[in-house]
Amino acid sequence: MSNTQHESMSFLEGVERMVDKATLVAGLDPRTACVIKASSAVIQIKFPVRLRSGVEVFTGWWSIHSAHRLPSKGGLRYAPHVNQEETEALSALMSYKCALADIPFGGAKGGLMIEPSKYTVEELRDITHAFAGELARRGFLNPATNVPAPDMGTSAREMAWIADAYKSLFPEDLNQDACVTGKPVNRGGIPGRTEATGKGIQYALQEFFRHPDELEKTELVDGLAGQRLILQGLGNVGYHAAKFLSEEDKVKVIAIIERDGAVVNPEGLNVHDVRQHLAQTGGVRDFPGGEFHEDGAAVMTMACDILLPAALESQVSAGNAMKIQAKLIVEGANGAVTYEADEILQRRGIVMLPDLWVNAGGVTVSYFEWTRNLSHMRFGRLQRRFDELRGICYATALEEMTGKSMESRLRNEIVRGASELDLVRSGLDDTIRSAFAEIRDTMKRNPEIGDYRTAAFVIAITKLAQSYTDLGLADGGE
Ligand code: NAD
Repeated sequence: MSNTQHESMSFLEGVERMVDKATLVAGLDPRTACVIKASSAVIQIKFPVRLRSGVEVFTGWWSIHSAHRLPSKGGLRYAPHVNQEETEALSALMSYKCALADIPFGGAKGGLMIEPSKYTVEELRDITHAFAGELARRGFLNPATNVPAPDMGTSAREMAWIADAYKSLFPEDLNQDACVTGKPVNRGGIPGRTEATGKGIQYALQEFFRHPDELEKTELVDGLAGQRLILQGLGNVGYHAAKFLSEEDKVKVIAIIERDGAVVNPEGLNVHDVRQHLAQTGGVRDFPGGEFHEDGAAVMTMACDILLPAALESQVSAGNAMKIQAKLIVEGANGAVTYEADEILQRRGIVMLPDLWVNAGGVTVSYFEWTRNLSHMRFGRLQRRFDELRGICYATALEEMTGKSMESRLRNEIVRGASELDLVRSGLDDTIRSAFAEIRDTMKRNPEIGDYRTAAFVIAITKLAQSYTDLGLADGGE
């Protein structure tokens, strides 16, 4: 029996239940909650593509949950289990995530029902071209209104194909590059986007560990170094988060769970090597640096300090929440913890850092990329050398005043003008830290809120309610 068979509600119902809970806490009119919860539009597209084996018909969706701010933004998922309800649930989460992180976008999500590994690269390109063309012709792909990004099963490669398809249909659109984000850097992308979600998870954990009063809730008191982490899903999000955390913060990745099972090493796994093995063999079985366990689900419930589910939704559910031994759950994947599991884990005192906050790094850097595409200029181009000259002046003045020469490493740091990647990382770190400051502040002002997820939802729906009230579409708070 799978974990989700224990659930009494769907993914979408779980997200809506969270909104209802936050509505009560925020003291919002329930009618406003109805306006917020309603999906603005969802399109289903069936389209034929000629492949090696003949013509095949594919089914895809684009769901716009909110369009109070445009463009509506969200990832495009390629997976065989994709369906309309999942796409709608994920688009709703995007609305709340953008609101929490102060990203001026509406929430959207796309999905294509496909097992990418069954097709050649050329076929995937043709399928992506066809899907993007269908979306663009109907106004569901456009720099001003609907802008996809990578998600499960897609990457910079698919985003480049989507941009190509859009450009061939609308060559006169001056802002054509901005029709999609997460593109390769040499095709209008921005440095730091590929790893942004994982980097954001690292920044979120670093920020959490800066606050002893928050850490007290977890029994984790000794800083990030040496904490034992179990990761589920070694894809874009999970790989980068685990790589940064293990290499830079000395977190010990003791288990990695993939589709075919899990690899476990209590002394710590080399995340880069496991990823190489996964790329070469398609799984984690036979990885030489750890012990293979066929039953990945059982490894999720092994003793550890931090559990990072970064594969897909509903992986921590009513079916396994009682067995989880982690002290802290960091929700890398969207909706990784179901509504019912959330309640069980709260009763058990297990702290969760919610998806709305910790995985907002992707859409944050997508926002930077979109802005860069509209300005047609890389960030820092105007001031980098000016900052460098000013740094030289500061360093020289300090040396003249003290009569001492600075250590060259320090001098170089003071003198150096910020690269575009420095600026992207700085903006990402700031967004993640600011969102946590808001969460903490909300919890201090409302002591009845006992968990970060409810606080994050309260902040998000309060901002959305304000937007709808400003438009005369809601009656505002009481
Ligand atoms: P991905 O396709 O790059 O990686 C997913 C990984 O999970 C793959 O390695 C896959 O083999 C593995 N996986 C799938 N099913 C599994 C299972 N049942 N057990 C164990 N492993 C399994 O996808 P991604 O972009 O890393 O996205 C992962 C999650 O993070 C999704 O929920 C996505 O919506 C969310 N997310 C992604 C981004 C982004 O920028 N890519 C941003 C925010 C949130």
